[in-house]
Amino acid sequence: MSQTTSSTPLPTTFAIVGAGPAGLVAARAFRRYGLDVEILERWDKPGGLWNIEQPGSPLYETCNFICSRDFGGFIGFPMPKDYPIYPRWDQIRDYVHDFARHIGADELTRYGADVAEARPVSDERGQYWVVRTADGDEREYRGVVYAGGAQWDPYIPQIPGEETFTGKIIHSAHYDSPDQFRGKRVLVVGAGNSGVDIVCDAAFHAKKAYLSTRRGYWFFPKTAFGKAVPDIFQGVAQIPATSLFDTPDFPAAVELITASVGDLSNYGLPQPDHAPATTHPIANNQVLHALSHGLLEHRPGIERIAADTVHFTDGRTVQVDLIVLATGYDLHVPWLPEGLVPEVEGHIQFQLGALAEGVPGLYASGVLHFADCTFSMFDELVNVAAADAYATVSGENLENIQRLRDEYRPNLQGDFPFLKVRRNVNQVDVPTLRKVQEELRNDFGIEIPIYPGGDDFYDHPARSAAVAV
Ligand SMILES: Cc1cc2nc3c(=O)[nH]c(=O)nc-3n(C[C@H](O)[C@H](O)[C@H](O)COP(=O)(O)OP(=O)(O)OC[C@H]3O[C@@H](n4cnc5c(N)ncnc54)[C@H](O)[C@@H]3O)c2cc1C
Repeated sequence: MSQTTSSTPLPTTFAIVGAGPAGLVAARAFRRYGLDVEILERWDKPGGLWNIEQPGSPLYETCNFICSRDFGGFIGFPMPKDYPIYPRWDQIRDYVHDFARHIGADELTRYGADVAEARPVSDERGQYWVVRTADGDEREYRGVVYAGGAQWDPYIPQIPGEETFTGKIIHSAHYDSPDQFRGKRVLVVGAGNSGVDIVCDAAFHAKKAYLSTRRGYWFFPKTAFGKAVPDIFQGVAQIPATSLFDTPDFPAAVELITASVGDLSNYGLPQPDHAPATTHPIANNQVLHALSHGLLEHRPGIERIAADTVHFTDGRTVQVDLIVLATGYDLHVPWLPEGLVPEVEGHIQFQLGALAEGVPGLYASGVLHFADCTFSMFDELVNVAAADAYATVSGENLENIQRLRDEYRPNLQGDFPFLKVRRNVNQVDVPTLRKVQEELRNDFGIEIPIYPGGDDFYDHPARSAAVAV
């Protein structure tokens, strides 16, 4: 590290760790405030986990976007109109690469920079950060933004008797393609988006396929009446009128789609013990097809494993060769001083998903989860971090920002009765977030561009207002 004296000015550049979608939107937001940034990315290109070839990427060959083309993109940068309703992973990769080019990410990024440590420094010059990369290089920054992703650290539960298992147990992060299933009896544990995708691959390619979930979930098709179901559920798309009914209002639309799936016991599925959308929604046509065609069977939670046999809590057993744990991810930041940022059940906690409480100059992008599309949500929320950083550097709006840091702790889950499960720790209720964004604007002077999306996206006035670097 270079020698500094009290007359050396404070560094002005902010380090953004990670050039995935969350890091790219952070760079854009900070630059919109006129702040200097350097993105530090351990891999050799932007795009994050959408670069399937990056070691540790949890992506698999059969992955498609779970958000729609129309509502899944970055603010002011719609996905190509000729993309399918649910783009393939490689189309999302290309789209993120295009976005990176659009914001000039290559000029802003130090590739091959694997951050090993970031520590806050407070001396006679003021507060700043020192960031060390794995090659030993140390540099000073005014602040640091965590944008390292939330799906690199598999959460692996212990299963009684697993040491006796004669087959193989992998986490979904290590699933790549259906080739891994050929000729095998496969059990997938967990019904998150990856779990359901992967169990469909097993249904169509393995010798036998089972899905184990501890509770019943709501299952929905991915499209209904020609529209993306998540868009209908978010209230941004409507079921068109037919000769049988006029365009249903929102509650009627949800009921219609739920009713179209019908009694889940017809598919061999347990009844959900929770209201729809109190945990992640499962939108997947293939799983319903597989269940209704005998290609896949549901089982409850695992009680224990003995040799090649899995015993379930209802007393049934199956013999399997491969168990895929689609049990989600933890989110730790190993390169920050231990305890600097609190964790709840393996998930770091940032105020509004953006500010480290009591730690000036430390920010986050991409650490919250939404039922809505994540790119635009990351894009919106990171403005809180950018506004804080700008206030710190310029002194403008500092009073509001300080008040926000001191007092503003809205419950981002609102009154929504999210299930108290590990995966919901950082889950956000989007209507509540919308109200919070209003308060950020009106009470704290923080502008949040909103993603309009939809058919009128291309002409929407908010689009021109929203971001241009
Ligand atoms: C299988 C799967 C399917 C998904 N499907 C969808 C979907 O359909 N829609 C959706 O909106 N979201 C989806 N997601 C969520 C996904 O997390 C987001 O789409 C998005 O990629 C998150 O962006 P990110 O930038 O936060 O993280 P990432 O994409 O993970 O990028 C993080 C970047 O940080 C870098 N990095 C990490 N640590 C360091 C370090 N110490 N030093 C330097 N660089 C570092 C990594 O190399 C990486 O490039 C999916 C996730 C998975 C696993």
